[in-house]
Amino acid sequence: MSVDFKQELKSEQNQNVSEYINKVLSLIEKEEINEVEAAWITKETVDGFREHVNPGFLEYRKTVTEGGQFAAVEWSDNGSCFKDVNGKEYIDCLGGFGIYNVGHRNPKVVKAVTDQLKRQALHSQDLLDPLRAMLAKILADITPGDLKYAFFTNSGTESVEAALKLAKMYSERTTFISTTRAFHGKSLGSLSGTAKGMFRKPFLPLIPGFRHVPFGDIDMMRKTFEVCAAVGEDVAAVLLEPIQGEGGIILPPEGYLKQVRELCDQYGSLLIFDEVQTGMGRTGKMFAAELYEVVPDIICLAKAFGGGVMPAGAVVATENVFKSWFDNPFMHTTTFGGNPLACAAAIATIGVLIEEKLPERAAEVGAYFLEELKKAAKGHEDKVQEIRGQGLMIGIEFHQDEIGYEVSKGMFDRGILVAGTLINSKTIRIEPALTISYEEVNKVVNTLKEVLEHING
Ligand SMILES: *Cc1c(COP(=O)(O)O)cnc(C)c1O
Repeated sequence: MSVDFKQELKSEQNQNVSEYINKVLSLIEKEEINEVEAAWITKETVDGFREHVNPGFLEYRKTVTEGGQFAAVEWSDNGSCFKDVNGKEYIDCLGGFGIYNVGHRNPKVVKAVTDQLKRQALHSQDLLDPLRAMLAKILADITPGDLKYAFFTNSGTESVEAALKLAKMYSERTTFISTTRAFHGKSLGSLSGTAKGMFRKPFLPLIPGFRHVPFGDIDMMRKTFEVCAAVGEDVAAVLLEPIQGEGGIILPPEGYLKQVRELCDQYGSLLIFDEVQTGMGRTGKMFAAELYEVVPDIICLAKAFGGGVMPAGAVVATENVFKSWFDNPFMHTTTFGGNPLACAAAIATIGVLIEEKLPERAAEVGAYFLEELKKAAKGHEDKVQEIRGQGLMIGIEFHQDEIGYEVSKGMFDRGILVAGTLINSKTIRIEPALTISYEEVNKVVNTLKEVLEHING
């Protein structure tokens, strides 16, 4: 091929890419799309997933029917709901696994981010960025006990990763205790704390020094501390979700977290609470730590921290622990963590949570929701094993994965999104916006009832 010919091909290709980009941008710009556009978007999305994202998703998502004739493609969201490209509305009870605590596109959060965007999107990386300092101060005020210094991240995984590094640096120890059914992320460090064998096995060995004990079993926790001390592998930290989310909404037994705190103090180990999912009002308090009256040394945040508008996370630690990074603040860094847009979103989010008393609302609506769901499941004990929860973090456990999948699919068809996939449906999680109305709650409950009556156990 001559050089000229190659260049010609290249410029033709660029022209095609340009046209495609302009088409996409013009669709993003539109407030409403028509049927033809909706069909084009659906086709491009399914084809794109198959050819360029990962065809596996088309198999696993309950939103894609066999043969792919129908696929729900999301397009817009507002309040407790989102809409697909065909304009069908869904009550979002999956809530991005706990992202949308202040609702979808909360106007105050959107305003803060767009106001900031008009002035400056990202930070210089050298001058002092104001919102980082202000958000850190706010966090020191609202987090429990003497948690004081914050490091900002872009995700929950990164928050856990930072917490582990901070604990290592502070303690000069390398042993961590985490729990069965825990989820802390999937980077090599955070995955070391995560419990699910399926996700860990291909990547072993992970970070040396991790031990898993059954969640809620204080005797095993105590024995593990004893053994670690006896063999000279002192525990740097215990890493825990106060209420396990991904593991299936597992509440800690009475007194468990306090006893873990005592063990940590006894052995000079740190307590890290991974509140990526439980934080920001989800459980009925701003942080689950308050619910159990236990103050950790490090708290990890993300998910709802960016108000469902920006990806944002944080690690907050006591001064005593965090000061390990005073001498050299570059020991752990990230280019985008704590960027002005993310900080603006987080500041506005905390404002909304406090002003609109959303943690209190989560407690109140959550208690009602839980009771009503239990009533709806009466007579379906052959299908539903248990319904449990705290605030607006609710799990419905089924006897089998297949039943959970049928239920989540049935609810989806009726306009309600709950967690529950082909590979993980034994417990479906309900984590709606904390702003969800009683009317919407009733609709979810009635739909569950209807679906349970329609499926065979
Ligand atoms: C979701 C989650 C994470 C991982 O957060 P990402 O933002 O997906 O990286 C970590 N810990 C807990 C408890 C979570 O629920």
